[in-house]
Amino acid sequence: EQFADNHFIRTIIEDDLASGKHKHIHTRFPPEPNGYLHIGHAKSICLNFGLAYLYDGVCNLRFDDTNPEKESDEYVRSIKEDVQWLGFHWEGEPHFASDYFEDLYNYAVALIKDGKAYVDELNAEEMRQYRGTLTEPGKDSPYRSRSAEENLDLFTRMRAGEFPDGSKTLRLKIDMASGNINLRDPVIYRIRRVHHHRTGDKWCIYPMYDYTHAISDAIENITHSLCTLEFESHRPLYDWVLDNIAIDGHPRQYEFSRLELLYSITSKRKLNQLVTENHVSGWDDPRMPTVSGMRRRGYTPEGLRLFSKRVGISKSENVVDMSVLEGAIREELEDSSPRMMAVLNPLKIELINYDEALTQSRSAPFHPHHEEMGEREIPIARHIYIEQDDFSLNPPPKWQRLTVGGEVRLRYSYVIKCEEVITDEAGNVIELKCSIDHDTLGKKPEGRKVKGVIHWLSAEHAVPAAVRLYERLFTVERPDAVRGDDGEYKPFTEFLNQHSVTEIDAYAEAVANTLAPETRFQFERLGYFVTDRYDHTTDAPVFNRTVSLKDSWHD
Ligand code: ATP
Ligand code: MG
Ligand code: MG
Repeated sequence: EQFADNHFIRTIIEDDLASGKHKHIHTRFPPEPNGYLHIGHAKSICLNFGLAYLYDGVCNLRFDDTNPEKESDEYVRSIKEDVQWLGFHWEGEPHFASDYFEDLYNYAVALIKDGKAYVDELNAEEMRQYRGTLTEPGKDSPYRSRSAEENLDLFTRMRAGEFPDGSKTLRLKIDMASGNINLRDPVIYRIRRVHHHRTGDKWCIYPMYDYTHAISDAIENITHSLCTLEFESHRPLYDWVLDNIAIDGHPRQYEFSRLELLYSITSKRKLNQLVTENHVSGWDDPRMPTVSGMRRRGYTPEGLRLFSKRVGISKSENVVDMSVLEGAIREELEDSSPRMMAVLNPLKIELINYDEALTQSRSAPFHPHHEEMGEREIPIARHIYIEQDDFSLNPPPKWQRLTVGGEVRLRYSYVIKCEEVITDEAGNVIELKCSIDHDTLGKKPEGRKVKGVIHWLSAEHAVPAAVRLYERLFTVERPDAVRGDDGEYKPFTEFLNQHSVTEIDAYAEAVANTLAPETRFQFERLGYFVTDRYDHTTDAPVFNRTVSLKDSWHD
């Protein structure tokens, strides 16, 4: 079972199915197409689609497209792609709130006729003043008592484009003294001459979120409408709308806590800022906590689903350390990724007693526990590369790698001994001369222990590969919550890690020249890597580091 364990929403659903309140459940994932999906959305997708899957129900994909200024077809396309990539599918065609504009309008007309909505002319500032505060009740707008006929006439003319933008609104007539500010005559329509990505210029009035959302849920026969906690105080409005229009069914809204990831940002608006200010290469930059960025980074759908199961669903704070995300990804890759060797910072070695007739290559499995992944040859030659870090002139105690006069095993090959060190004028080690113990292929050396095993490549067979190493994007846990001396939030872009990406020229096994984009490998001892979705070619391999082998966040 790959979806979140028992949690309160599952309990509610099980009760509703058991009591016969619902025969089937129907959920929805309702993104606004104003940006790319991020890790928080991934949690919501796993919840909504996961519940439908678990209880044999249906989950709709619905674009909540009522703010035309910020929405686009590009975002619609990317959201569809990301949901599918995460492994989920929606029933039929995706839905759009804009498909319901005519219905929403008709319900508004009915509310006006019932005396439950009125056209207001207060401007934004006046409306704020009339609204009151948490401790003070609001005041009725002077336009609140217009007749239904007058309201109907004005609303019809709002739609017809007779009034300038912002000059009038349609408000629900609920209660200006309500303890819940959301019920103090909320605006449900505003005038806005903005081109809509689907309806074009057909409308110059657009419905507001709460009104639209409740009715869209009911139109789609949603049973459980799941949203994040900040909408808890909107629930009475959601219910009010459905109680006051003639529509079948009354979906129930339940709230869970928003996922927040430390050292990261989960807000489309702020992620958009990173893109537009060129702090990253795009929404799908591998450092971005977007679904498409994480995909390009090499995260797997299975790993993200495992993560979302782990973080769980509750009403308590859901602030998660990056190590939880990386842990889930690593755990899944450990089993699913074939292995190869790569050398990121090469140090050349000449094997001085290399002998074509005597020195043998071996083959090695691509995965230690998955025979079906096959094997590859690990060729050896007179010149090889090892990692610079695996040699030290003055090693610390307990050094298990190579040093002058010391021995080490080349992974899947012989034990070698360092006989001579070649340095440049500045004293930097530039090459080693080593000897092979030809008795050690697949055998322990006689009369001594060689503990260290290092990865390496034949210099003649290795292929060049560009490798991109990624670090955290921000230098502080909560980049968007740091206050300056004046008590104001500092711009989160002040906390960008200036060293979050490094590209190096490395070497890899020849198999790198055969890989398709988005192929994942473990580079032994180094971490998990993926061939870049866009920049990798078989002629010029490009690997992105997905995650290191060990948790580098705590040491
Ligand atoms: P943002 O602030 O990033 O724009 P949003 O909530 O406005 O997020 P929507 O497109 O409206 O974004 O979100 C679609 C769905 O995803 C909503 O049901 C919302 O509750 C859920 N969602 C968004 N962010 C998170 C998060 N951080 N954790 C859990 N669910 C989230
Ligand atoms: Mg939203
Ligand atoms: Mg939003």
